[in-house]
Amino acid sequence: MTTTVAPAEAKFDLALTEEQQLVQRTAREWARDRVLPIAAEIDENGAIPRELVREMGELGFMGIDVPERWGGAGLDMVSYVLVMEEVNRACASTGVVLGSHVSLATAPLVRYGTDAQKDRFLTPLAKGQWLGCFALSEPASGSDAAAMRTTARRGDGDAWILNGTKNFITNGAFADLTVVFAQTDPAQRHKGIVAFVVEKGTPGFTVGKLEKKLGIRGSDTAQLHFSDVRVPDDHRLGEVGDGFKIALSTLDGGRIGIAAQAVGIARACLEDSLAYAKERHAFGQRIADFQAIQAKLADMATETDAARLLTWKAASLRDRGERHTAEAATAKLFASDVAVRAARECVQIFGGYGYLRDFPAERHYRDAKITEIYEGTSEIMQLVIAEDMLGGGAA
Ligand SMILES: Cc1cc2nc3c(=O)[nH]c(=O)nc-3n(C[C@H](O)[C@H](O)[C@H](O)COP(=O)(O)OP(=O)(O)OC[C@H]3O[C@@H](n4cnc5c(N)ncnc54)[C@H](O)[C@@H]3O)c2cc1C
Repeated sequence: MTTTVAPAEAKFDLALTEEQQLVQRTAREWARDRVLPIAAEIDENGAIPRELVREMGELGFMGIDVPERWGGAGLDMVSYVLVMEEVNRACASTGVVLGSHVSLATAPLVRYGTDAQKDRFLTPLAKGQWLGCFALSEPASGSDAAAMRTTARRGDGDAWILNGTKNFITNGAFADLTVVFAQTDPAQRHKGIVAFVVEKGTPGFTVGKLEKKLGIRGSDTAQLHFSDVRVPDDHRLGEVGDGFKIALSTLDGGRIGIAAQAVGIARACLEDSLAYAKERHAFGQRIADFQAIQAKLADMATETDAARLLTWKAASLRDRGERHTAEAATAKLFASDVAVRAARECVQIFGGYGYLRDFPAERHYRDAKITEIYEGTSEIMQLVIAEDMLGGGAA
């Protein structure tokens, strides 16, 4: 028996439009001038100046793919991944603040919010006046998100009462709005899940422990506690039972963003390695003149470009409304692997200096690893890709 895996028939365009090139240039110049010079400081201090978030709002990045009617830039997912590559090339902490806000908090409101919810919540998010976060993971459930223990039960009138703890939430400490998922009936597993938006300051909703991390240290990662939090029914996204579908379709977009983050980190490794290899001398010549170093640089360039193309492909499919679950997983799986490898080689090319805080290589090494973990681990990406080929029989 012969099995063939045919190339995807969906069309996607590799040429950037003039508008996309302009966005890319704007993001590149802003990230180079405003973020790169303080990237080491952001990592060292474990915080991003709020000024940078405000500036990303003014540039339109915080609502880049939100329709103009709701305060966004009205651009597409390809534009978003171009911005993500540039910002993450400068600083992965700043990149994940942007990525979580855009692809995890604003995106489900664009897709599943009512007009009233968009007017009230999406507009300040898209303008960058509010910061958003996405709360799916819990202390006892990450990959197996349907096993969540946070509950939503009917309260007085049309309200819901939320109880539980969410874990590892990016932007959680400062977010003005949280997209949160809760279980209405554990017996129904994923079919009982419902999504809500919860505003900062809602009684019973508190920020708990802030995590200390290996990398992306400038972004905050928080536990969120819900203790008898009363949420009106008009804060519900989609229908009861739609929550898991909303989470997965949101993560399809989020994974494309993380792939772009990984491409940005890999490019940082390549550019920093190239510059260093041209300056550093050993045995009377530049280390760039050694073929062993050239081979590393060539592999980094090849793999970074391949990762970028997979990322653009997945973004382009999402823009066209085509299926892109497997393509998003493919881009994230490959790009995160490329980023981790590029970071390892970057440290190697810098030699002993690669191990020191004074140079960017060790920061890239610490930052790259998270791209293999959040928004679905590499093992889960393999499951998603295999499931697509095997028609649901892989998991
Ligand atoms: C810095 C950071 C930021 C984060 N930001 C957010 C956020 O904003 N919002 C949010 O909701 N979550 C967030 N997360 C959580 C993140 O998405 C989860 O950590 C991730 O999905 C893995 O879940 P887990 O940690 O529970 O690992 P587990 O699910 O316990 O997995 C442990 C190991 O088992 C493997 N494994 C699990 N199931 C399978 C399987 N079926 N087949 C093969 N291997 C398997 C995993 O791949 C992994 O290697 C963040 C995490 C971190 C570290």
